[in-house]
Amino acid sequence: SGRVLLAVRVAPFGDGLALILVDDRTQARRVEEVRRDFVVNVSHELKTPVGGLALLAEAIAGAADDPDAVSRFAGRMKVETERLTRLVAEIVDLSRLQAGDLLADMVVVDVGACAEEAVDQARVVAGARTVVAAPAGRPENLRIYGDHDLVTTAIRNLVTNAIAYSDDKTRVGVVTRRVDDLVEVSVSDQGRGISAQDQERIFERFYRVDPARSRRTGGTGLGLSIVKHIIAGHGGSVSVWSEEGQGSTFTLRFPAAVGETRAVGTPAPYQ
Ligand code: ADP
Repeated sequence: SGRVLLAVRVAPFGDGLALILVDDRTQARRVEEVRRDFVVNVSHELKTPVGGLALLAEAIAGAADDPDAVSRFAGRMKVETERLTRLVAEIVDLSRLQAGDLLADMVVVDVGACAEEAVDQARVVAGARTVVAAPAGRPENLRIYGDHDLVTTAIRNLVTNAIAYSDDKTRVGVVTRRVDDLVEVSVSDQGRGISAQDQERIFERFYRVDPARSRRTGGTGLGLSIVKHIIAGHGGSVSVWSEEGQGSTFTLRFPAAVGETRAVGTPAPYQ
C-alpha cells in the first residue's frame, strides 16, 4: 500500500546509449520504517525482562528473613538474566546480519558437518526427545559456499524450535541431502504444528504463535528471523510444511558449491 515514488533519471552513457537510473524512494522509506519499528519492538521486548528483574530484586530485599524465598527468587533472576543475555546477543546478531557485515568471508562449508554440530549443541535441551542427524550421500556433495558458524546457527535454531514445540518422547530428525544443484537440510518434528495463517508470520521478528509458551521455553521470538537472514545471505531459501497436531518440517536450501571458485554472498535484504 502507499504511493510508489519512482524517480527516473536518464544519464548519457557514451555512443548514444542512455543509462536509466531508477531511484526507488518507497523502498528507502520502507527501510526507515522497518528500522523504526525494530527499535520500538526491541525496547518493548527489553522492558519485560528488565521489569521482571527489578521486581525480583525487590522481592529478595523484602524476604531477607526467609532464605528459601530468597533462593527461589534468586533462581528466577538467574533464568531471566540468561534469557535477557540471549535476547541482547540475538538482537546484535540480527542487526549485523541485516547490515550484511557477518557474511564477508564465504568459504567452502560442509553442511553435513554443520548439521551434526547443530544437533550436538541442541541435544542439551532435548530432554526425552530423540534427536537424529542423518547426512545422506557423500560429504563432498553437501558442500556450499558460506560461513560455517552461521549455517550451524541456522540449523541449530530450527532444531531447538523442533524440541521446544514438541513433547517428550517424540522424534526430531535432521536430514541433509543433495538435490540437483541444491543442498537441502530438513528439520522435522512431531510437535504441535503451525496453522497456515501463522506459517506466513513466524519469520517476522518477535512474532510468536503463543507468547506465553515461547517465554516458558526461553524463546526470544528472533530465532526464525535470524534463520531467514542467514539463508538469504547465502542465496538460499527456507520453507515450512506443517499440519496442526501432526508436526512441522522446515527445509533450508542452499546453492551447492561448484568447483573451487569463490562465490560472494549477497547481503540479506533489510526487512
Ligand atoms: P521463539 O523464540 O518464540 O521460538 P522463533 O522466531 O524461533 O521464536 O519462532 C517463532 C514462532 O514460530 C514460535 O514462537 C512458535 O510459535 C513458532 N514455531 C517455530 N518453530 C516451530 C515448530 N517447530 N513447531 C511449532 N511452532 C513453531
